Amino acid sequence: MSVSGSRVLEKLQDAEMVLVGIGEDMQYDWSALTRDERFCEIENEIGGDKGRIWIIPFLQRMILQQKRDDQWRQAYKDLGKMLAGRNYYIVSLCIDDYLYGAGLDEKRIVTPCGGFRKMQCDNNCSHMLSDIPQETYEAVLRYYGKEISVGDLKEPVCPVCGAKLRFNQLGVTRYAEEGYLPQWADYMKWLQGTVNRKICVLELGVGMDYPTVIRFPFEKIVTYNRKAFLFRVHPSLFQIGEEIGDKGMSIKENPVSFIKAICEKM
Ligand SMILES: [Zn+2]
Repeated sequence: MSVSGSRVLEKLQDAEMVLVGIGEDMQYDWSALTRDERFCEIENEIGGDKGRIWIIPFLQRMILQQKRDDQWRQAYKDLGKMLAGRNYYIVSLCIDDYLYGAGLDEKRIVTPCGGFRKMQCDNNCSHMLSDIPQETYEAVLRYYGKEISVGDLKEPVCPVCGAKLRFNQLGVTRYAEEGYLPQWADYMKWLQGTVNRKICVLELGVGMDYPTVIRFPFEKIVTYNRKAFLFRVHPSLFQIGEEIGDKGMSIKENPVSFIKAICEKM
């Protein structure tokens, strides 16, 4: 194993608490969809039709549900192994939901950018999230399987105001933060408990898209907590500022392969 890999394991073993940040660079690579022949066919069929663009995220969800053995799935399983039995918390910017169902404790996960697990009104009129309408999802699957045509599909709407129903993700017209705020409050409480504790902070592929969610606050934690140590794993944005000094380590690597390499030797 690399020097950095053994250093991470050593610090993990020694830590009382482990804080993990997962960023853009660990997100599922959507360009993989372009290798799916049927998906490309559908994209062509829908074209620039704004009335039908809603089908795409349903297909993304379908594809994410089908991907069981790819490198991301494995990385999250490995992360679960690394964190088993530890007092940890994970903050992730990814919307691909790989974190869920990977054997990690879901009470110790917060995903502030949302994902594909719940839906919301595009205008967030009621501040409520809803389940994915099963009949719509199944119809999209049948369309993908060429059993029905695009004209048979009907876009789901908000039962309250009639606006579009959308996946609860950053990027909708009015993002329903209700989807993650209760869990965020739990995370804040957990963070309060890190004061004066030996905490290992691990950043995996966190870039500069939303630096105020993970990067900056994590740096602050490490700056103020004398017993904290930061690992920043990123293929290009791995640099650590001077204020962290010897309480941090930059690791210039792809986070997915880095985790894999660590766990192969565990
Ligand atoms: Zn509504």
